[in-house]
Amino acid sequence: MSTKVNRDTFDEVMVPNYSPASYIPVAGKGSRIWDQAGNEYVDFASGIAVTSLGHSHPELIDVLHGQVDRLWHLSNTFTNEPSLRLAQRLTNDTFAERVFFCNSGAEANEAALKLARRYGFDKFGVEKSEIVSCSQSFHGRTFFTVSVGGQPKYSEGFGPLPADVSHIPFNDLHAAEKAIGKRTCAVIVEPVQGEGGVIPATPEFLCKLRELCDKHHALLIFDEVQIGVGRSGSLFAYMEYGVIPDILTSAKALGNGMPIGAMLTTERVAKSFSVGTHGSTYGGNPLASAVADKVIELVNRPELLQGVKRRHQLLTQGLSVINERFGVFREIRGKGLLIGAELAGDYRGKAKEFVTASGSHGLVLLMAGPNVVRFVPSLIIPEADLMEGLKRFEAVAAEIVAKANHQKTAQAI
Ligand SMILES: *Cc1c(COP(=O)(O)O)cnc(C)c1O
Repeated sequence: MSTKVNRDTFDEVMVPNYSPASYIPVAGKGSRIWDQAGNEYVDFASGIAVTSLGHSHPELIDVLHGQVDRLWHLSNTFTNEPSLRLAQRLTNDTFAERVFFCNSGAEANEAALKLARRYGFDKFGVEKSEIVSCSQSFHGRTFFTVSVGGQPKYSEGFGPLPADVSHIPFNDLHAAEKAIGKRTCAVIVEPVQGEGGVIPATPEFLCKLRELCDKHHALLIFDEVQIGVGRSGSLFAYMEYGVIPDILTSAKALGNGMPIGAMLTTERVAKSFSVGTHGSTYGGNPLASAVADKVIELVNRPELLQGVKRRHQLLTQGLSVINERFGVFREIRGKGLLIGAELAGDYRGKAKEFVTASGSHGLVLLMAGPNVVRFVPSLIIPEADLMEGLKRFEAVAAEIVAKANHQKTAQAI
């Protein structure tokens, strides 16, 4: 059997649920990655908001090597030192008093939603089971989380779906008031919608949700899987908004690429997960926990968080300048280093075209729905790499604009 693999191999052996880029990256350092042919790229995607401290971070490599040589796995029949240290750090640094570890964002939300249902059941009985979520939200791909997520395309054809889930328009105070009531056990919301188009919640909306949850004894869940761990410019986005949830979920950047998710909550709420009610074989394993502990230590520093805000300015200003020239965006928005540029006029629906074209210009980009190009660089991307990435993006925009003008001229003739 040949050991040589390439992009065609994907179509031969993988379930066709993805359509990955035409090239295969094989190495990364900082904010640059290299493919099989040795081509180099500026990384404005960070593995979808995961490698927030860049690739091959020396301190993370050291921690991982140290743990690799000691102990890989125990399961939950034991506890382990790295996960206890990480839990201590997370409870010290946030509102939370208790932590549950798992392996992904979807699992963290699955745990949060199950805990909320169980808490409602324990305190108020079977009737308190309704979950309120937002349209266009994304909470993961497990059966429960696609049902709670607000994008029907992800749950279509998988029915019957778990019951008692309703959706309100994001940032709609009036709809929240109408939807949240005495049967509501939880409201789940992303402080900044990521996959749904990079849309920050208004402070009024999050305040209103907090107020309504308090009034109706419902739990407020913040899904910070994408915006958390420094990306907003604070350790967690709830700190920027000054609204404290009952449950917060984290994953993605938490392990900088080591698979780990966490559900953070209060002591009072945590009690509804008594022995045996929920679990995960790998959750909180020593390898991922050791790395995540170092990630939080490195991210939760004023210099780093200040740097996120400075880079936000540089990136949004750079994009505005490019937009003055090409007029491809109608809005540039987001928080910290989760930035979305919504396409204007003729370019609407073409986010995928930008992402694909970026490959041949040595740039890695993401989309957030068909109308939004998403920029998610490392939180510590060197300024020179940021500028180089912007330069490459300008070439991408120039190419797409030229192509569109060419098509228009062809149609006119
Ligand atoms: C990515 C994401 C998830 C799902 O995380 P996985 O690790 O892919 O399961 C959940 N919520 C939000 C907001 C996300 O961005």
